[in-house]
Amino acid sequence: MELTAEQAWDECLDVIRDNVSVQSYRTWFEPLKPASLEEKDNGLSLTVQLPSRFYFEWLEEHYFSLLRSTVTRVLGPNGKLYYDVTIEKEDAETGNSGTSMHLPARKPANEPPGRALWSDARPAPAERTASHGPAADHGISNPFVIPGIRKVQVESRLNPNYTFDRFIEGDCNRLARSAALAISQNPGGTSFNPFLLYGGVGLGKTHLIQAIGNYVKANNPGGSVLYVSSEQFTNEFVRAIQHNKVSDFSLMYRQIDLLIIDDVQFFSGKEKTQEEFFHIFNALHQNGKQIVLSADRAPRDIKGVEERLLSRFHWGLSADVQSPEFETRMAILHRKASEDGIDIGEDILEFVAHNITSNIRELEGALIRLLAHGTLYNRDVDLNLAREVLKDLVSESRTPVTIDQIQRVVCQYFNVSEDKVRAKTRKREVVQARQVAMYFAKELTHSSLKTIGLHFGGRDHSTVIHACQSIRNQMETDKAFRQVIEEIAHTVELRTR
Ligand code: ADP
Ligand code: MG
Repeated sequence: MELTAEQAWDECLDVIRDNVSVQSYRTWFEPLKPASLEEKDNGLSLTVQLPSRFYFEWLEEHYFSLLRSTVTRVLGPNGKLYYDVTIEKEDAETGNSGTSMHLPARKPANEPPGRALWSDARPAPAERTASHGPAADHGISNPFVIPGIRKVQVESRLNPNYTFDRFIEGDCNRLARSAALAISQNPGGTSFNPFLLYGGVGLGKTHLIQAIGNYVKANNPGGSVLYVSSEQFTNEFVRAIQHNKVSDFSLMYRQIDLLIIDDVQFFSGKEKTQEEFFHIFNALHQNGKQIVLSADRAPRDIKGVEERLLSRFHWGLSADVQSPEFETRMAILHRKASEDGIDIGEDILEFVAHNITSNIRELEGALIRLLAHGTLYNRDVDLNLAREVLKDLVSESRTPVTIDQIQRVVCQYFNVSEDKVRAKTRKREVVQARQVAMYFAKELTHSSLKTIGLHFGGRDHSTVIHACQSIRNQMETDKAFRQVIEEIAHTVELRTR
């Protein structure tokens, strides 16, 4: 009977399972899917599908010999393993239009080191790694530093508490953390450049990207590391323009070896800042300097940021952090309690972990609040106190609503398609749905008028103001309409609970 790809891969998995930890097995091998099995060059070639490029890097770096011996065992001495990597989005800049790459597993020893196999998917490796050397070399080959001029010392602006040691690993952040660690150990030298970490608020993005900074700083004393929020970057750029110091600004950034920019979604709608960042990005990337970014959503969902910049975000690796699962929440609470030297019952921690589910910042906040109340009123921290103190937090811990969710609910209510509220249509029912959705976006999210406008097909902020005003007026004069709005508000609330 002929062997199928599934059977062959199952057999491989049996071997692998015996050779790696359960956790590694789950993280690195379970997500792979067998794609095909073919006769080639007197042997069988098995192709497996990888969820992202990151898996390729990781498997090659950590499991190369295991995979090789496994494949030989299952497919025979001429057996080969191929990887299929699906790329999320077309990258116009690099001309990579394929949705899938077929990569032979790297041959040992005689294959040149480095990441030549990636050359068709990203800018030429030579270009990327040109000046990256060991720690002491950091910045020396930077062409923007005029020889003889001393490198400016930059304050890294890192919070020293945000370290890997203090970052609890869980299913929700495993990939992101592994990538962050790999980058820290070899900044600019992995193919994860830029590294974009994305996910909702309070899930550890700032902590993790700063952990990279702290690690690199500790291990590369000669290198310069800079952490800035995109708001700081923008403000400083504006100030540089006002004081005629744009070239100083630009020169300073080009000297950084590891540039970390937090919350890049705030670049939305700020064209000038984006342009400046674009040039800095290119200069750093070309010199093999590491760039680390965070955003509150996936790059494809970031509105109001130029396509050429978004496409660069795809050059390296995007990884997400998700809401923590129960075990991780417990581990974080345990860690926090022990760090602060607090003795607190397991049942209390479980109560907190069960009730505050979406966000680590709130989880920490809940614990602190609980302890503060206990101390302040000199009461034992028991379940009663926990229930009392966390009553409002428990109901607050819903994930914040997004403009997209609002559009979905409103469009369903009025039975118009979501595309239409983002398009130019002036049909009455569409206009009404659009105005209602804009009103909720203003009331329920913290987005600026400009951002809201962008989510509705790039409309002006004055259109948003007008929409909100018109909904308020109608609510005042028309009771039935007010009920409609209340009903929608209720649905939005249910959806995001
Ligand atoms: P974000 O930037 O995603 O909004 P932060 O990095 O500011 O989130 O995290 C919020 C708080 O939760 C911080 O105090 C951070 O130290 C803590 N935190 C987040 N993730 C973890 C984790 N995995 N382990 C320990 N603490 C965490
Ligand atoms: Mg943050």
